[in-house]
Amino acid sequence: MRVDVVSIFPEYFAPLELSLIGKARGTGILDLAVHDLRTWTSDVHRTVDDTPYGGGPGMVMRPEPWAAALDAVAGPSSTLVVPSPVGKPFTQADAHELAGLEHLIFACGRYEGIDQRVLDDAAARMPVREVSLGDYVLFGGEVAVIVIMEAVTRLLPGVLGNADSLTEESHAAGLLEAPVYTKPAVWRDRAVPEVLRSGDHGRIARWRRTESLLRTAARRPDMMAGYPVDLLDKKDRAA
Ligand code: SAM
Repeated sequence: MRVDVVSIFPEYFAPLELSLIGKARGTGILDLAVHDLRTWTSDVHRTVDDTPYGGGPGMVMRPEPWAAALDAVAGPSSTLVVPSPVGKPFTQADAHELAGLEHLIFACGRYEGIDQRVLDDAAARMPVREVSLGDYVLFGGEVAVIVIMEAVTRLLPGVLGNADSLTEESHAAGLLEAPVYTKPAVWRDRAVPEVLRSGDHGRIARWRRTESLLRTAARRPDMMAGYPVDLLDKKDRAA
């Protein structure tokens, strides 16, 4: 997958050199380039913002540098992803969709955001997705892009050592994952549930399924309400 990120703070993306994303870049699974938006300014101050039409606080990112940046990095199979608090809330399903695309361009807004015409103009030649990390406001899109890149990269084939992790985790099948434990079996008088030490794979699977349902119902009733009834068996219902 090819990814281009455009930001006025390219230094923000240093963490994308680390851990499994760094490894994915090293093996060629992920081809990631981070660009400084100011490269595409033409004045001596390298200006990227101006006052908002209609008045109001703050500054708005000017369209010209963004247009030049998108002209430079866009290709025939690009999708523009714009983190924004007015976007669609980002989910695991979105991560899967993005992971299936050939080329992502991330546009990191700052100040009061990017002049709307940049997005309207880009939408005439490529899919544009405005995505929100949640109902709160960040300083800029950089951290949101790192979050989205983590969620997307771990879905790319070959990135995770054990691909089963992707099917047995929270949000993979509409539920939260059951609690997890490791050694020692007893720690500070707290014992790992006996069933997990039983070696009985059937019982373990049943326990995990029940815990997953109970946890989801308690913590995320919205998810439980949307869980397809036909995916619940008799024992699920009893839980
Ligand atoms: N004036 C904007 C508004 O009220 O909707 C907020 C602008 S915010 C200070 C600057 C940038 O941070 C946005 O353009 C966006 O790139 C990013 N950002 C802020 N909150 C975000 C969120 N919840 N999800 C994704 N990106 C966000």
